[in-house]
Amino acid sequence: MNFRYRLMRFMSGRYGADALFYVLFVISAILAFINIFVRSAVLQIAVYLIILIAVLRVFSRNNFARQRENQAVMSVINKVRSIYGLRRQRRADYTHIYKKCPYCKAVLRLPRKKGKHTTVCPRCNKSFTVRVFKEK
Ligand SMILES: [Zn+2]
Repeated sequence: MNFRYRLMRFMSGRYGADALFYVLFVISAILAFINIFVRSAVLQIAVYLIILIAVLRVFSRNNFARQRENQAVMSVINKVRSIYGLRRQRRADYTHIYKKCPYCKAVLRLPRKKGKHTTVCPRCNKSFTVRVFKEK
């Protein structure tokens, strides 16, 4: 029996590496890098623990639990990503500004014209003043 075959047999039915594995790996690498300067024993233990968890997940046979963990973490990461994407999109929008309605918290896209304006919220029909400081 060659090594590859034995490895394949050993890994069959085991979970393997997923996106969360790489997330844990990157986090532990970042913490290890920070610890070069901080030199904290607690941080060092945290790095080892994260690596241990990542490796144990790979060899786990409880695929269902591992998939749920992965989905939970990925949904948080995707949420953060979409918020960042939205911010970047709004910054890139030179002709408009985005303001929250003080009454109903709806986000309004308004033309970017310097000065003080009164606007009516299309959702709650209340008017409020908007200040635009600069035209880009
Ligand atoms: Zn409103």
